[in-house]
Amino acid sequence: MGEGKLKNYIAGRLVEPVGGQYLDDIDPATGEVYCHVPDSDERDVEQAVVAAEAAFPIWSHTPTANRSQILLKIADLIDANVERLARAECIDTGKPLSAARASDIPRAATNFRFFATAILHFHSESHAMDDVAVNYTLRQPRGVCGLITPWNFPLHLLTWKTAPALACGNTVVAKPSEITPMTAYLLSTLCQEAGLPAGVLNIVHGRGPKAGEAIVRHPKVTTISFTGGTVTGAAIAKIASPLLKKHSLELGGKNPNIIFADADMDEVVRESLRASFFNQGQVCLAGSRVFVEKSVYSTFIERFVSAAKKLTVGDPLEPGTDQGALASKAQLDKMLYYIQLARDEGGQIRCGGGPPASLPPRCKNGYFVSPTVITDLTVDCRVNREEIFGPVVTIMPFTTEEEVIGHANATEYGLSASVWTKDVGRALRLAGRINSGTVWVNCWLVRDLRVPFGGMKSSGVGREGGEEALRFFTEPKNVCIKVTPAIPPNDPRSDNKRQKKAS
Ligand code: NDP
Repeated sequence: MGEGKLKNYIAGRLVEPVGGQYLDDIDPATGEVYCHVPDSDERDVEQAVVAAEAAFPIWSHTPTANRSQILLKIADLIDANVERLARAECIDTGKPLSAARASDIPRAATNFRFFATAILHFHSESHAMDDVAVNYTLRQPRGVCGLITPWNFPLHLLTWKTAPALACGNTVVAKPSEITPMTAYLLSTLCQEAGLPAGVLNIVHGRGPKAGEAIVRHPKVTTISFTGGTVTGAAIAKIASPLLKKHSLELGGKNPNIIFADADMDEVVRESLRASFFNQGQVCLAGSRVFVEKSVYSTFIERFVSAAKKLTVGDPLEPGTDQGALASKAQLDKMLYYIQLARDEGGQIRCGGGPPASLPPRCKNGYFVSPTVITDLTVDCRVNREEIFGPVVTIMPFTTEEEVIGHANATEYGLSASVWTKDVGRALRLAGRINSGTVWVNCWLVRDLRVPFGGMKSSGVGREGGEEALRFFTEPKNVCIKVTPAIPPNDPRSDNKRQKKAS
């Protein structure tokens, strides 16, 4: 793509922003400009909403099977373009090409395939009231949905919302993060190729406070689904709530990774490494607070730190790279800030602590931080309470089950947790008492798209995934039909009586 100008996707066409303004999109591995992204404003959002509104009557009445076919075609096109999309995702985000190819892009295709077929099996309830009435629930599309997504898994998270919204018969105005717009732009070209009718999906690029907020405020946008930071989520809720818009917020996390002494130590070290540093640690579900039972605390630290030091940090385009660049200069600055804060709060940096000592010449101006492991912090210090969202984890010892449950719940967040133990009873007890939307036992990031996904406390409002997403993107309407009482045989209105008269 070089340094090309991306376009918005409105009413089925690729168009320039009304104001003609563009932002630089930076390749975080080099610090150089990758492309230019529209700096859209409320005028572009207005055009997109008009297009989405115009498309809604036809799309919502298109037979479900036909909608499903078009979404399956998009999934096929994503698969057919995996290499091109993975390369774009790698350059835009800084994540290793191998990860984009194996995970992000296939998952985007899976999102479309999953919801294209889920909608064929979607059902609703009926409630019979003896001889009085029968109720059934119609689940109808809600209209124009506004979808706002972040930069850590750009195509994966955009399609996670777009696919169910469209499958249900809604039309969409989406705003991807302006830091990582390329795969959303490429998706718009694939939607054209797939024959998605004009206006069904509209993608407006630009900044959150401008384009994003214009979507949230627009009176014709009925439904908002947002994934991003907790502060932004709260700002969106503040706008959407008084306008009485339905909204779902998937927000940040500060997730406990709890390791008991009886766990399989090889597996725990391997998977904790993934939970800490996958996607450069920029995962809302990252196990960023590691709690280890005292009797294996030193052993775990030794093995974990040694494994973290062996991770190859470098050029995301190179096949041997385990950890690439952080997504932006702001992310780099944030990591360095929190590492310094950890030092100030009495933490001991066991490895990492800043950019790697050497990088390939191409990446000398890129935004890199080595896997960083910190110990000796208190559970309630800022580093252990605030979401860092990068390759920085802390490790703390614990003695009892009760104590670690308290630690796990000691933040404002409640997105996910992992518990490592061979004791099933203990796993069940912890699963019941940890306040989070997901609890993984002896695993991390095992995802079944049918399960409810979302967070408690400051990690979000509502659930998406599987039927929860189909329910979120539809309006349940109760239809109540009165049961007419039977007419006694001798009543003049009865069929028997009338038939006898006629003969
Ligand atoms: P942000 O909250 O900064 O941004 C998310 C999206 O919202 C971006 O598209 C952003 O645009 C937009 N936005 C920003 N301000 C507004 C506004 N006032 N009105 C409307 N839209 C706005 O999050 P990040 O992009 O920094 O993503 C990281 C965060 O996302 C982390 O906290 C992480 O935990 C969370 N996250 C949560 C997940 C979950 O499922 N729970 C999954 C993945 C990430 P712009 O890019 O222009 O700022």
